Amino acid sequence: MLPNRTKRIRSTKRQILVVDDEEINRQLLGFMLESDYQILYAENGKEALQLITENQDSLSLILLDLMMPVMDGYEVLQTIQKDRNLRRIPVIVLTSEKSAEVKSLQMGAADFIPKPYDMPEVIRARVHRSIELAEDSSLIHATEDDPLTGLAHKDFFLEYCHQRDQFDTSPMDALVLNVNRFHLANEIHGRAFGDKILLVIAGQIAALLNQTGGLACRSGADSFYLYLPHRDDYNDLLCQFSEALEKETGTGAISLRMGVYPYVDRALDMEQRFDRANLACAPLRTQHISQVSVYDMKTHEKEVYAEKLLEDIDTALSDGQFQVYYQPKYDIRQDKPKLCSAEALVRWFHPVYGMISPGFFIPLFEENGLIHKLDLFVWNATAAQLRIWKEEYRTCVPISVNVSRIDLLTPGFEENLLSIVRNNALQPEDLLLEITESAYTEHIDQILETIHRLRNHGFRIEMDDFGSGYSSLNVLSSFPVDALKLDMKFVRTIDTNEKAYGMLKIMMSIAAFLEVPVIAEGVETEKQLSLLRDARCDIVQGYYFSKPVPADSFTTLLGASGRKEKTS
Ligand code: C2E
Ligand code: CA
Ligand code: CA
Repeated sequence: MLPNRTKRIRSTKRQILVVDDEEINRQLLGFMLESDYQILYAENGKEALQLITENQDSLSLILLDLMMPVMDGYEVLQTIQKDRNLRRIPVIVLTSEKSAEVKSLQMGAADFIPKPYDMPEVIRARVHRSIELAEDSSLIHATEDDPLTGLAHKDFFLEYCHQRDQFDTSPMDALVLNVNRFHLANEIHGRAFGDKILLVIAGQIAALLNQTGGLACRSGADSFYLYLPHRDDYNDLLCQFSEALEKETGTGAISLRMGVYPYVDRALDMEQRFDRANLACAPLRTQHISQVSVYDMKTHEKEVYAEKLLEDIDTALSDGQFQVYYQPKYDIRQDKPKLCSAEALVRWFHPVYGMISPGFFIPLFEENGLIHKLDLFVWNATAAQLRIWKEEYRTCVPISVNVSRIDLLTPGFEENLLSIVRNNALQPEDLLLEITESAYTEHIDQILETIHRLRNHGFRIEMDDFGSGYSSLNVLSSFPVDALKLDMKFVRTIDTNEKAYGMLKIMMSIAAFLEVPVIAEGVETEKQLSLLRDARCDIVQGYYFSKPVPADSFTTLLGASGRKEKTS
């Protein structure tokens, strides 16, 4: 629906101008209309034009005779039509011939009243209607168009698109066009420059609509919506827009981003169609070059799924949908591999989606700042389990937990870890901390300090995913770590690719130089195991020995390895 058009409310009567050279006619009209309107009178065109100019802001209507001395009605009408401001005042011509009626309507008159004036009600009704129509249309124009670009406002635009769909069923595309870092352009070069950018884009859009049909609006400060007959050349189109922008603003530094939802699904609301174009467009926000991104159903479904998971985390935590699994690590420095530790890995048993891989939800929670909540749960659960193993059986191996970069920067992180250890009657060395290599790339000083303090408390640190490409050797030399955990990618191909095995040996020598043990994960085959042994790798973890298993299965593994001795 269109927004409500509120009528202008006035306490005083509307002002109208009666122009006629014959006094009897002026009196007649005055007599019919004076109870409803405040009336000005003119005897000829010249006088009329003067009054019109003087009262242009207050005049609601002009009743104009055509045949007059000095200046006739046609000339008055013509002058009014040429003037942007005067054109909004409706003119009803007073005629005595049929031919004049047509001519004056063609010249822009709103209506005509035939002479002689015989039916006062009809005259009053026509005056009333013309005023109302003019006021409505000026209100619409005031709100319908964006004053800067002249393009429609969003609400009207969506309605027009909807109306267009009613009579044209050919395939349509929904587009969003944005200016990258528009606020910065505004700040650096001033508002006038910002306006110029928008005007150039609006000009390009208007030209495009002229050629291809379709509709457009300004949908936000630096954003435009376009509803266009389907086409495939959006890259060319964006190039064309960018070139015009560069030419008109004198700089190539302004880039645009375009999100396209092609072949819109007409079962969706108009707004949802543009939401999809927006979804496609959003990732381009930080780009420095102009780019087009097309909406893709799979990406969308993934986003919707991710959004649902984010919503579900609290319920999942309170309903016990998360479970910690343990994957053993074996020391291979002696002939018989010996269980020496385990890694705690979280699993999500979702009531609707089933078991969800942490490979999917961990990065999601990291991005959205929720990982700390989940990790607190995992550390608590692991510590509580460790306590059981330690209390029920005299001994247990230390268990490593994963620590995200976000955790390291979360206030209270160390205190939380320490109280978890204390509350479960553990020692810091019972919990190994796996910190992924990528954690060491940003906020280096803060993270370095935290790691130092953790080690002073007695925690041991394993650098996870070592070699995955983030840390430089330089960083390594200044980071205190107690073990390097090789990225799985290195291990995966050592049995088939000589170069990979060579790389692995280089990693091993770095670790030897740093005097820290090396853990290889993702070990799946006997061949991989023997190559790792030959390369003097210390500890291995992988499906070859065991997948991550629930706590009770791990209890069995502990027993089999002789690490479990039931206290009697
Ligand atoms: P990660 O820390 O590198 O953990 C190792 C991943 O490799 C685990 O996947 C494990 O199940 C898998 N894996 C172990 N052995 C093998 C093998 O022989 N072959 C293959 N193909 N895979 C093996 P998972 O459990 O799916 O975890 C994926 C990632 O999710 C983890 O990678 C870790 O970064 C993260 N993650 C898991 N649990 C937690 C948690 O509690 N907190 C945090 N912050 N991250 C976690
Ligand atoms: Ca890990
Ligand atoms: Ca890893």
